[in-house]
Amino acid sequence: MEECSRRDLLKNAAGVSMLGLLNLYAPAYAEEKPAEPKKPAANEPLECSQAPLPYPYDALEPHIDKETIEIHYTRHHAAYVKNFNSTLQRLDFARTMKDMIFIKHWCKELAFNGSGHVLHTLYWSNMSAQGGQPKGELAELIEKSFKKFENFTDQFSAATKTVEGSGWGILAFEPCTKRLIVLQSEKHQDMALWGTYPLLVCDVWEHAYYLKYRSARGTYVDNFMKIINWSEVERRYELIKGLKIY
Ligand code: MN
Repeated sequence: MEECSRRDLLKNAAGVSMLGLLNLYAPAYAEEKPAEPKKPAANEPLECSQAPLPYPYDALEPHIDKETIEIHYTRHHAAYVKNFNSTLQRLDFARTMKDMIFIKHWCKELAFNGSGHVLHTLYWSNMSAQGGQPKGELAELIEKSFKKFENFTDQFSAATKTVEGSGWGILAFEPCTKRLIVLQSEKHQDMALWGTYPLLVCDVWEHAYYLKYRSARGTYVDNFMKIINWSEVERRYELIKGLKIY
């Protein structure tokens, strides 16, 4: 690629990480319930936006104070949204330039900002001043998965309290066993984007290729690309395309 384009990419890479520090704008606060995320039109960029907070900043007092919610929502979450969209744009640019030299950087930015956006969106909406108890099928699945509700609260609280450093406690549905599980996410940037569903995966643990390819992982991946079962990928997409997580 041309040198000036590479310089642009370098500049953009620096710009995105600076945005993480400087992007402190405050989106409008709305008292109404958050609107349903709208489906982008065919020509609209596939970007994310920050849904309005579903309650006033002081709604969770005294459990979580007004100032914390306000800073958390308007600065921290807003920065993830802005930087997630910037990362998607930078990746568009990198693909256009056919330059994957910074792909590790962009994969990290995508996981960090995308997961930050998704997890904060879930976090705001999974709290309310009233609290409450699970009901219906969810309550049944909690009983089935953890034997009783109290066992779930014990495990979820313990897992969340013992996250090393920064992170999240997560209650998740695991579709192979169809049960609920509790996870810790220590660093949401390592390297998954929470809330996504895998459609196509390639195993690059050494056991997947070392007998034949030894250290030539690249050749293995090149050959893997020739044997993808796209009709299965399409079937998986059909299964999940209607799912929304918020
Ligand atoms: Mn946060």
